[in-house]
Amino acid sequence: MKALCKSEPREGLWMTRAPVPEIGPDDVLIKIHKTGICGTDIHIWNWDEWAQNTVPVPLITGHEFAGEIVELGRNVTDLTIGQRCSGEGHLIGKTSRQSRSGKFHLDPATRGIGVNEQGAFAQYLRLPAFNVVPLPDTISDDIGAILDPLGNAVHTALSFDLVGEDVLITGAGPIGIMAAAVARHVGARHVVITDVNPARLELAAKVADVVPVDVRHEDLADVIARLKMKQGFDVGMEMSGNQIALDQMVEAMTMGGRIAMLGIPPGKSPVDWSRIVFKAITVKGVYGREIFETWYKMIAMLENGLDVSEIITHRFDVDDFQTGFATMKSGASGKVVLDWTG
Ligand code: NAD
Ligand code: ZN
Repeated sequence: MKALCKSEPREGLWMTRAPVPEIGPDDVLIKIHKTGICGTDIHIWNWDEWAQNTVPVPLITGHEFAGEIVELGRNVTDLTIGQRCSGEGHLIGKTSRQSRSGKFHLDPATRGIGVNEQGAFAQYLRLPAFNVVPLPDTISDDIGAILDPLGNAVHTALSFDLVGEDVLITGAGPIGIMAAAVARHVGARHVVITDVNPARLELAAKVADVVPVDVRHEDLADVIARLKMKQGFDVGMEMSGNQIALDQMVEAMTMGGRIAMLGIPPGKSPVDWSRIVFKAITVKGVYGREIFETWYKMIAMLENGLDVSEIITHRFDVDDFQTGFATMKSGASGKVVLDWTG
């Protein structure tokens, strides 16, 4: 089969031929239709320090996918051949305290497909049946291929009650923009999203009913006054990984505000903790998606009016993956989807 592989420990990914994976008794084999390119894949492409310390070579990359089940392990009785699906790319252990109490997304032994284990940028993927999420007919393969990052957005957005709240999102990357759409869908009052890239802010305003703010030109204090908020934002979602953005967020929060942090700062990040203490702010770190509560809620919302389809700005045949990755790296795109069916 064709597979997009990290074949050598240097910049790039290479299209290679690999054997179709053999499945175990509890696995399924998935024929891949569409895949999404993630920021994580860009780190692996660039072969930065994180990738060098994390990713074994050679490895088939990719973890955002939609496809169809073509083979069932002998213990798998609750799925059928031909079922369209996406799936959770975090492979969890079953023995930790967290897993045994049903908090699967907090299992410390988690391994990621396309990061630690063979991934989804291939014509076929082996996945434990436990990880499969069947797709209803109403959800396309394109949307199926971005449920992983939409899940990050949903998990972060649903961290705190948003109904009637004023929400600040820092970072209008694909996940920040989808989180804005979710905040709007569940009934937030004002949803403000910041970035320093005008193309991203334009995309945000196209995908969701939000107030885009370019923080290079506008102060959040002015936005708070313009929108006639009393003190500041009730809920913050940090989605840029940028230190300045986090500082601006802390400053713009109301007393007793709540912040969910998904963005990953590049290193140790200096934070003005006294501001957080005196404003009595709650900070929650967010990792991955809740397995499988986020998946359930996200699919239910998609079936009931949540529309994030415009976040996919580019589609390429997988043979054009180089252009797909260049597009993603340019910062001028939303999600980029690769088609494996050609
Ligand atoms: P992205 O890199 O596409 O988006 C980040 C955005 O932040 C960019 O548009 C960038 O221009 C913007 N930005 C930079 N400086 C800024 C500033 N000072 N103020 C406001 N915006 C600024 O990333 P993404 O794919 O949307 O992911 C969002 C973040 O979430 C990333 O940091 C990513 O690493 C992280 N992430 C975390 C998890 C997790 O499990 N915790 C999972 C997926 C992604
Ligand atoms: Zn991803």
